[in-house]
Amino acid sequence: MERIIQTSVEKATELLLQGEVVAIPTETVYGLAASISFPKAIDYIFELKGRPRTNPLIVHVANIKQAEELCKSFPEPLKKLAHQFWPGSLTLVLPKTKHVSNQITAGKNTVGIRVPNHPKLLQLLKKTGPIAAPSANPFERISPTSAQHVADYFPKGLKMVLDSGICQAGIESTIVGFENNQVIIYRLGAISIEAIENVVGKVALFDSNQSNVVTPGMSKKHYAPKTKTIVAENVKDFVNKNVASKIGLIVFKQSAQLEVAKEVILSPSGDLQEAAQRIYQTLHELDKLGLDYIVIEPLPNEGLGRSVNDRLSRAVHS
Ligand code: AMP
Ligand code: MG
Repeated sequence: MERIIQTSVEKATELLLQGEVVAIPTETVYGLAASISFPKAIDYIFELKGRPRTNPLIVHVANIKQAEELCKSFPEPLKKLAHQFWPGSLTLVLPKTKHVSNQITAGKNTVGIRVPNHPKLLQLLKKTGPIAAPSANPFERISPTSAQHVADYFPKGLKMVLDSGICQAGIESTIVGFENNQVIIYRLGAISIEAIENVVGKVALFDSNQSNVVTPGMSKKHYAPKTKTIVAENVKDFVNKNVASKIGLIVFKQSAQLEVAKEVILSPSGDLQEAAQRIYQTLHELDKLGLDYIVIEPLPNEGLGRSVNDRLSRAVHS
């Protein structure tokens, strides 16, 4: 059988233009992509992922001009963000035009759009035009940060995973919209709130507890490993109370000096970006070790640390 992990951008482009679903690299995480012109392929993305049809897909484009064709209006603050961060890990939620189907937006009149910062993907997008691509993981599992993760998740049903090594950002894009005349963050991600506020001033943070709006990226338990996973303020306490258990420990920059089956230090130099890049990779690795628990020390709650903590709070088992 032909190996599905391949490196030809031309082949991936060709398959997408034929209406196939292809897994693609981005700088955030790997995605499951289909051209927005092929409803059947879009439908297959939902099917493969086991994703509810009420959960919209993000559309990826090559540049701002392509983005403008997909939206009715582009509020000034969001345009400023686009100029600052595109290509980059920022998804903007904008009023959609008829070029984007309700199937992609799950019936919403808005569409999430981004220009990814990934040379191979940009090369592909210039030929394919807009593609819809959610993360290439089955619903409620951790996002994939390597081609192998995708192939492991979907051993059947995919013709090709375009391999481009390990994702540079390693966590999902930050999703930002504009409501009631203010910029609102729907999902924390690879661009920090601080970086966004530097461009547009104070922003609102979407609060899933106070809203009836279903924004699946914000739903609880969205990114779980199979192993029971816990975020512990005091890892020492947890380990001491569970001495008989096989524990995999994830810490930020310093060893916890505890007797555990496995310890991973995310960034010995204390770099939050490096920690963000390695977090899913590490969860994937530890998930394969047959541990009783994965225990994670929260990162400092600032910059990308806050984004990682947010992602992790959704990975824990309650
Ligand atoms: P994924 O690519 O799997 O991380 O999922 C895409 C995320 O983008 C989901 O959590 C969606 O809720 C979010 N999203 C996509 N389009 C919209 C939209 N129009 N409004 C709000 N959130 C969106
Ligand atoms: Mg996802």
